[in-house]
Parts: sequence; structure tokens; C-alpha cells
Amino acid sequence: MTPYRNQAFGEIRSGMANNFDAVGGRITGFIDSIRTARPAASLGQKCGMDKSDAIAVDLNCNVLTCQNVSIKGIAPNGELHKIGYASDLANVKLNTATHWSKQDDCPNYPMLQICQGSCMFLKGPLWDTSCDNAYSDAVPIFAAGIEFLTGYVPVRIEGDFREDRKDLFGAAGVRQAASTRKAFPIKVVAV
Ligand code: SF4
Repeated sequence: MTPYRNQAFGEIRSGMANNFDAVGGRITGFIDSIRTARPAASLGQKCGMDKSDAIAVDLNCNVLTCQNVSIKGIAPNGELHKIGYASDLANVKLNTATHWSKQDDCPNYPMLQICQGSCMFLKGPLWDTSCDNAYSDAVPIFAAGIEFLTGYVPVRIEGDFREDRKDLFGAAGVRQAASTRKAFPIKVVAV
């Protein structure tokens, strides 16, 4: 995972990511989460499919867990991804997914404000892989936000979570990233 983290962080610092609004938006969002002390309880799932006003429907008006599944698909918890009918919304129940706040690890992770959980319907090894990828995806954003705020590149996080996630870049990677030019893609940060 560290090669991806190092490359992405290096590209953010060099300005190569400046044309990607999503990158600047995520860094700004993370900085704002610190600036405003945004409570984790206010965070929804990253994909937004946990919102009560967001549903996925197919052309036959079946309601699904999300747009990436079919009515015949079975969620890892054994429930059908078909969770009701658009004509009977009162009985639609999202019983195929687990919100990040109910996962064992998510509430303890420092990337939570960036990650907002990985795919909410995955479980077991698929969830583990998805979570690992989401964590790594968040690390360059986290590091850019912390460096923007403090002038220092975070290389390790101490806390009550998995040991293998505490080393963010590996020693060689940090040296490489730190040698590149710094040009954060952040337009406005109100302090
Ligand atoms: S993250 Fe998972 S639940 Fe959300 S839209 Fe993607 S596949 Fe569906």
C-alpha cells in the first residue's frame, strides 16, 4: 500500500493533482473537520446510500441496496439486495448493509473524517480488503491536510488501532515525498 500512498502524496505536493477538484475538496473537507471539530456522529456513509432520502431503483421499481447490485444479488449477510418496492417505500428496509459506526474498527481510525467507511454491504475478507484500500486512499489526503495546517509531514500515528496502519509511508517514501515541491490544491480555507 505504501507505494500508492507515496506516489499520491508526492503528486499532491508537486501540484500534479491541482486540476482534480475532488482532491482539493477532500483535503479542504478534512481541514474543515478539524477546524470545526466536526463530530463523527454527523458523518454518513461515503457513498451516501445510507441516507433516508437516497434510494436506488431499477426500471421495474424494485428498490436495491445501491446502484451497483441487482435484485437477484445476495448481500454477504445472506439477505437479497432487493430491499422493497418504490410503490411501498414505508416498507423499504436497508437490511443488507452495516453503517461505519457499527463496524468494529471505523470509529477508532484517524482517517474516518476522510474515509467515511468503505462499502457498507461488504463483510469478511471483502470488507477487510475494501477497508484497507479506503484507508490507504485517505492517507495522502490526511497527510496533505496535516502538512497544510502544521508545516510538518505526518509519518506515524499512535493510537488504539492496527499496528500495521500506524506507519503511513515507510521511511524511504517520506524522503521521496518531502523532496518534491509543495503546492496544495486548496483554494479557500476560512480560519
Ligand atoms: S460503496 Fe458499496 S454500497 Fe455504496 S454505492 Fe458503492 S457498492 Fe454500493
